[in-house]
Amino acid sequence: MQKYQMYIGGEWVAPSSGTWFESFNPFTGEPWALIPRGNAADADHAVRTAHAAFTDGPWPQMTATQRGALLRKLGDLVAQNAQHLAETEVRDNGKLLAEMAGQLNYVPQWYYYFGGLADKVQGAVIPLDKKGYFNFTRYEPLGVVVAITPWNSPLMLTAWKLAPALAAGNTVVIKPSEFTSASALEFVKLVEQAGFPAGVVNVVTGYGKEAGMPLVEHPLTAKITFTGSDATGRLIAETAARGFKKVGLELGGKSPNIVFEDAVIEDAVNGAVSGIFAATGQTCIAGSRLLLQESIHDDFVEKLLTLAKTAKMGNPMSLETQVGPVTTQPQYQKILSYIDVAKNEGATLRMGGGPATRPECGKGWFVEPTIFTGVDNNMRIAQEEVFGPVLSIIPFKDEEDAVRIANDVRFGLGAGVWTRDVGRAIRMSERIKAGTVWVNTYRAVSFMSPFGGYKDSGVGRENGQSAIYEYLQMKSVWINTGVKTGNPFVMR
Ligand code: NAD
Repeated sequence: MQKYQMYIGGEWVAPSSGTWFESFNPFTGEPWALIPRGNAADADHAVRTAHAAFTDGPWPQMTATQRGALLRKLGDLVAQNAQHLAETEVRDNGKLLAEMAGQLNYVPQWYYYFGGLADKVQGAVIPLDKKGYFNFTRYEPLGVVVAITPWNSPLMLTAWKLAPALAAGNTVVIKPSEFTSASALEFVKLVEQAGFPAGVVNVVTGYGKEAGMPLVEHPLTAKITFTGSDATGRLIAETAARGFKKVGLELGGKSPNIVFEDAVIEDAVNGAVSGIFAATGQTCIAGSRLLLQESIHDDFVEKLLTLAKTAKMGNPMSLETQVGPVTTQPQYQKILSYIDVAKNEGATLRMGGGPATRPECGKGWFVEPTIFTGVDNNMRIAQEEVFGPVLSIIPFKDEEDAVRIANDVRFGLGAGVWTRDVGRAIRMSERIKAGTVWVNTYRAVSFMSPFGGYKDSGVGRENGQSAIYEYLQMKSVWINTGVKTGNPFVMR
């Protein structure tokens, strides 16, 4: 079994607990790596080291252009090592190699884009209403950024945080999910190879409460950027608020995928399958509520079942496989319990509905792709995030009804709209309360396009030009160009 160390201050260090825990391969159900069990002492060491690298040494002396060059070099190294990093992720999270290799081949773009953006951040000269003063603004980095990531797309979601944070001149402590820590420890070797000064990027591994929370609580932490469940996000935001720390939160979803009768049906069927069964439904943007206009409901369901039944399950490393295992055993149990919830609530099971026992699934944690019809939007299966291959189909009458159902949920991460009517596409995109609306497509993301949640789906935006400002603070500088100092007891 591979035994990893943590990476702090440019050195590979053992956890101060002296203990390691096992990381499991979800396809075999067997452990394959040993991950250091970090704790508060390691968190303290990492944040202090990152803070020292932020205030002293080469990093704060570098120009934004030099930081950009390092980021682009890192992008090149990720591109050269994409296959190795993707395979490491598949061993840990069981998602398809096709999906993870696609992600890792795309990840360099984040380092290129934000590397390019690093030296294009500009303040402004303010044409003041007061004579005799020169006033300008400048952007400055925040300090130590703690990046806490989930298990579903580990290195892609790391890039969404790390690239803008470093471009802005911060230093970073990464805390990967305890289920998928290996890829962050492989990736950080490339950070070192790219030539980032020691202490600029650090990785602390371990459990959320033991290693994650001390990073959040640390007085020298300036910002926490988090992707994960809304329950953990709430805890992090509450804790950060006590220290007036900034937070960026990308949380869960219960996204509606809405099909109107005028849609191109074959495309929409494809989009519905991709919305819920791609990545075994383990994506925050899963289109887990399929809203079908009543007039096409029955016909659409038949076509959907026909396509969904062709899904090949099995070894995620095989490029033939379309639906892989669930990443963690607790997640596997949670999905199965939600299937029971749906059955008890009176939803009609049309496909799947239990563990997958196909021979090609071996001893892995597989759940059959599952479809329920007759779901009412008030049911738990329509309101709570399952994070698995479980689709709830909800009928609607007209546009008004679709908007009402789509928005009647506490989340607001993504939404799909399938229609050939341009006016309707625009009306729907205006009225849906979600950070992303896809029209006649689903589950598309780019380093250039802002991503984030409305309502309980999060705070702040990742990707796109605005993301770099999430890691900067603005300063206003006043210079007296010749005004006599007047009465000291009144405001100037
Ligand atoms: P999680 O919240 O359990 O864990 C996420 C991370 O937080 C892990 O690194 C974990 O160790 C850490 N953590 C847990 N408790 C903590 C604590 N008390 N203090 C500090 N850190 C703590 O989520 P998960 O199960 O890993 O991921 C699945 C969830 O992530 C889903 O709900 C999904 O919707 C969400 N997600 C959201 C997005 C998005 O961009 N909005 C993307 C992917 C996943």
